[in-house]
This record gives sequence, structure tokens and C-alpha cells, in this order.
Amino acid sequence: MPSLTDATATGLCSFVDASPSPFHVCETVAAELTAAGFVRLHETQGWPAAPSRYFLVRGGSLVAWSTEASGREAAPFRIVGGHTDSPNLRVKQHPDLESAGWQLVGLEPYGGAWLNSWLDRDLGISGRLSVRDGNGLQEKLVRVDRPILRVPQLAIHLSEDRKGVQLDPQRHVNAIWGVGTSPRSFLAFLADEAGVEADAVLGWELMTHDLAPSAVVGLRGELVSAPRLDNQGTCYAGSRALLAAAEEPGDAIPVLALFDHEEVGSMSDRGAFSDLLNSVLERIVLARGGGREDFLRAMAGSVCASGDMAHATHPNYPDRHEPSHRIEINGGPVLKVNQNLRYATDAAGAGAFALACDRAGVPLQRYVHRADLPCGSTIGPITASRTGLSTVDVGAPQLAMHSSRELMGAADVPAYADALAAFLTPTD
Ligand code: ZN
Repeated sequence: MPSLTDATATGLCSFVDASPSPFHVCETVAAELTAAGFVRLHETQGWPAAPSRYFLVRGGSLVAWSTEASGREAAPFRIVGGHTDSPNLRVKQHPDLESAGWQLVGLEPYGGAWLNSWLDRDLGISGRLSVRDGNGLQEKLVRVDRPILRVPQLAIHLSEDRKGVQLDPQRHVNAIWGVGTSPRSFLAFLADEAGVEADAVLGWELMTHDLAPSAVVGLRGELVSAPRLDNQGTCYAGSRALLAAAEEPGDAIPVLALFDHEEVGSMSDRGAFSDLLNSVLERIVLARGGGREDFLRAMAGSVCASGDMAHATHPNYPDRHEPSHRIEINGGPVLKVNQNLRYATDAAGAGAFALACDRAGVPLQRYVHRADLPCGSTIGPITASRTGLSTVDVGAPQLAMHSSRELMGAADVPAYADALAAFLTPTD
């Protein structure tokens, strides 16, 4: 079966390296969409009626869709959802610290970061600044890919039992960026990098990123080693799937919805708990001349695949996994089921995704978390409850989730993208 998308392991590496923050994920996807003829819309403006390819960005979230092939106002949607944010270390509001003759930048964890993985790495910084512009504000993206920050580990000789170090998120994750006692300003440095005056920087969302380039690894190049695979693995596969669906549409309007703030609960102006997806879907119907009735009819026939990465069975910890639900790297996309609805998958959603995998010619794996361990969650249950859409939780397998450096299968990249492309293009 020929591939439905152009997704590759090296393509994923380039995508991730271009996207150190949620804002940069949106910028990366927006550039790809624009190159493929998608037009950027703004929520403050009226939307055109003409069938075409569109997207919008709200902060670190992005929604994109194509109405080119859907004739009727009440045409259903097929939605691939995901999240743009990843756990990391973020900059505090008064970041300039000094301790024992060292110059430090005050950091704190964002989301469920595996703190040990941030130690002894060369770190860059990225995010966005809110900059005074006359009496208004302008937003500036900023990124520094030089190794300016480092969170050093404690020497083993100084640990109490030489078995491990307990990391305190308040005291142990500040980053060194120089020595000496003369005061220096981290924000002045960043303002300079962004080409703006330091006193014009009025707000910021700044975060660290591992500077080691993503790579295809393993003896036979079977693996991808990269930061932020959770969930840029889905952002990449989903955007490849949408581009393929725009070229060869099915019977539904294909939609890609990438949300910020999943790792901290999704409750924000642009998280999955917000009105973002509902309002975009309704405006798609209204812009084309449909009414509220058409919108509700469209929603009733729509299905959402919540894409997020899945746990492959770990070779060093096989006992942490449900023994009869082994998940193999390079074994194909994963359907995630949880009886207590930490995942949104129900029988109908599972069927829709299984059909898509069948059409794409890729195998489907079924994941169940051990019943005696707490299960993580995704945007799936939130999206389902906020929209009433039939929703299925899916993903691609990986190891080391929430580490600053994660690992997935190279062959799973095109398989996942192809499955999502087939899901976006259902045919009767
Ligand atoms: Zn995730």
C-alpha cells in the first residue's frame, strides 16, 4: 500500500528542532500550511464564504481545515487533535539570582517534567515576549539556540547514599549562566536577542530546550531520539495528515486542532477546555451560509481523534505494563482505552480509527494501562465533554515520556501519519 503522506523520521526531526516552544510549533505548522495554499484567518475579522484551506492561531494553539471538497453546509467534520506544549523548565518573573559566586536564572517546572532528565544538558531558551508598542502591545517570538544555560547535577560524592538524588522543584532546577557577583539581567539579554528595548518587555512566556539535535538512531536507524515527541510526534503526523487530506479529501471536512496547555490541565483561553474548537467549527458552518441547525447536524455526524503519544513496553521495566497488552515500537499506531475515561475511546470511536488503520494499511495496537497504576490523560475526555463529539484516543508508541529526551520508532512516524490521514478522509 503506497504511503498516504510524506511523513518521515527525518522530517519529524526537522520539525521538532524548528519548534522549541508551543508558539514555535504554531509558527512551524503555519509556514507549512501557508506553503500548501492555506490562508490565515483572524478571529476578530469576518470569514470568507468561499471553499478553501484556512487556519488560525490563538497563542500557542492552532486550528486548520479545508472546505474545498464539502458541498453541504451540514457536512460533518473529521478532527485530529493534539497538543503543542511539552513539560519543561520555565523562567520565573524575577529570574536573576546569585548563589555562592554563581549567576543563575530562576526556573520552575512546567507540567510533569521528569526533572532528572534536565540535568547536565546544554539548554537554549525560547518563547514569546509581550512588548510595548506606543500605547499598545506587540508579540515577539524569541529563541536562543546557543548553550547559555545549564542545570548541573550534584556530584555523586556529595549525595547522601550514592543511590539517587531527590530533586526539589524550588531549589534544584535553577540554571547557571555565568560566574561572579556583578548583577546581570536575563530579560535585558533576551530583549537584546529579540531586538527590542529591555524596558519595553512587559510580559513573557519563556522556556528552556535541549540543544542536542534530534536524530535517527539505532544500528539500523529504527529509532528517533528527540525532545518533545510528546506531543510534537502528533503535531507533525497530524499536519502531514491534514496536508494529504486537503489534496485528496473524503466525505468530511478535515480539521487539525493543536492545543496549548494540555500538560497543565487545558484550562486556559486556548487550551482544550476553552471554546476554541467549538467556536471555530461553528464559524466554519456560519461562514458558508449555514445556520445553528446546520452546525448541530454537522457536529452530530463528526468524530475526533485525540492524538497523543502512547507508552511502548519498556524492555527494562516490562513489569510496569499490562502483560497482555504489549505495545511494540514500530508496531503501528496505538488505540488507548481506559474504563474510567482517562481516555475518551468508546466502541464507536475505536471502530472509526480501526477502519482508518485498515484503509491506510497499517497495523493497530491496543493499549490498556495497568489497573494498579494511575493512568495519565489527554485532551480526549476534555474535548469530548466540551464538544459532545464522538472521540477516540490514539497515538504512536514511545519510551521515556516527559523526559527532556524521548524515543520512538522511525517506522511509526509514517504509519501514524497515514492512519491519521485515512481518519481525516472517510469515504462511504
Ligand atoms: Zn501528551
